[in-house]
Amino acid sequence: MPYLFFCLLLLICTDCVAVSTYEVSLDESLQHVDVRICFAPNDALRPADLHVDGDARAAISRLRWNEQQLDSVRQLRRLRVVDTAGNCLDYRAQLQTTGRRWFADNTDYRLTSSKDWLLAPAHGQSALIRFHLPPGMAVSAPWPPAESEAAELAEDWMLLGQTPPSWSNNVVFGRFQVQPLTLGNNTLRVAILPSSPTLTLAQVRPWLEASALAVMRVHGTLPQPDPQVLIMPADGQNDAMPFARVMRGGGIGLQFFVDPNSSAQAFAQDWKPTHEFSHLLFPYISRSDAWLSEGLASYYQNILRARDGRLSETDAWEKLLAGFERGRRDRKRNVTLTEEASGMRHSRSFMRVYWSGAAMMFLADTRLRELSGGQQSLDTALAGLASCCMRLGEVWRANAIMRKLDEFTDYSVFTDIYRQYAHSDQFPHVQAQLRDLGIVERHGRVRLDDSAPAAKLRHALLQFNQSTTAVLQ
Ligand SMILES: [Zn+2]
Repeated sequence: MPYLFFCLLLLICTDCVAVSTYEVSLDESLQHVDVRICFAPNDALRPADLHVDGDARAAISRLRWNEQQLDSVRQLRRLRVVDTAGNCLDYRAQLQTTGRRWFADNTDYRLTSSKDWLLAPAHGQSALIRFHLPPGMAVSAPWPPAESEAAELAEDWMLLGQTPPSWSNNVVFGRFQVQPLTLGNNTLRVAILPSSPTLTLAQVRPWLEASALAVMRVHGTLPQPDPQVLIMPADGQNDAMPFARVMRGGGIGLQFFVDPNSSAQAFAQDWKPTHEFSHLLFPYISRSDAWLSEGLASYYQNILRARDGRLSETDAWEKLLAGFERGRRDRKRNVTLTEEASGMRHSRSFMRVYWSGAAMMFLADTRLRELSGGQQSLDTALAGLASCCMRLGEVWRANAIMRKLDEFTDYSVFTDIYRQYAHSDQFPHVQAQLRDLGIVERHGRVRLDDSAPAAKLRHALLQFNQSTTAVLQ
């Protein structure tokens, strides 16, 4: 509980604060922020440790150390923190508009990446940040809230330094509200950016809640609490949600681009929110092993929607099988899955990567349930992982995750599947498993056979664990 620790220090001993603080004041016209960083003498963080990103260098002006002007950020290296009061660095940063895909500029808010304006602490060097905002304005940021029972001191503080400062994120300033949506032990910090027509929390809540709850029912909680959720207007061109993603700079942020003209039904039917929330069941996985993170999300986007009734059993299997087929068609001879995942953005071989990973998760889930007589599953393996391995800022390789999942389940199912397929050009062999489960496909249509030897296991795959469901009611 690192957040609690820092806040208690603030509370108990205001003269000997052991944590450095960032106070950020927003300009009403959304053009700039004024930042004051005060270094605690007995904290490890020093001005020389601050990360200056390339884009921030051009955005920063009025740099001062204890009210003395500095000529450039290069001088940060020479600043010494002393035992007396002061030790504060001030600067102004222009807020750049990020030229991102899907982003519609709007005078009511400004979308930034914090590395463009924040001289952030290094990974592992914690500091607290809070914002001073003009009336009617808000900030949406991914940094975890600093928790404390001492509400008046902890209020509004967030914790920096949990991830490498070069990781991208979304920090948005402007005329909107950040609305808490509490589900079980988690609180989604939801910001709906202004759009025409306006979207309200009541409108987005059904799909947001259904998707988050389906993922929470895997083992009772989202492993990383209080994620930032950004709902951003976009021209969907007949797609209710043209794009969505998870970003991990500073903390967990989910970003959903939505067409505000779309119907409630179109949002309810979209698979992307369930896919994105499913990503939170893993820590950050190296991009060269994207088949694992995308595989889990692609498998669960269908399995979980069938478990809560948003998809029929037949529809869920049809969608999974159609995905496997797309993945199989996208396969290239002599290119391994890991090689394909490493170059995925360049080669556009998303289908092979996503659906090979999904097929591996399907194989692992069914084999584990078979071997353990239903005692272990992908869900129980992920519950184990959540108890040990979710630290923000850590990057995991797939082989290490698969070893962990085996440790928690006492079988070698995950490493066996990893060895068989991660460095192979074969699409995972799912046919025998599908046949045993009674999933019969003909011309893209699925028929379910209840007389198949593992038909019961097929039913179990589409059931939530009752104990985790009870926790959330
Ligand atoms: Zn994904």
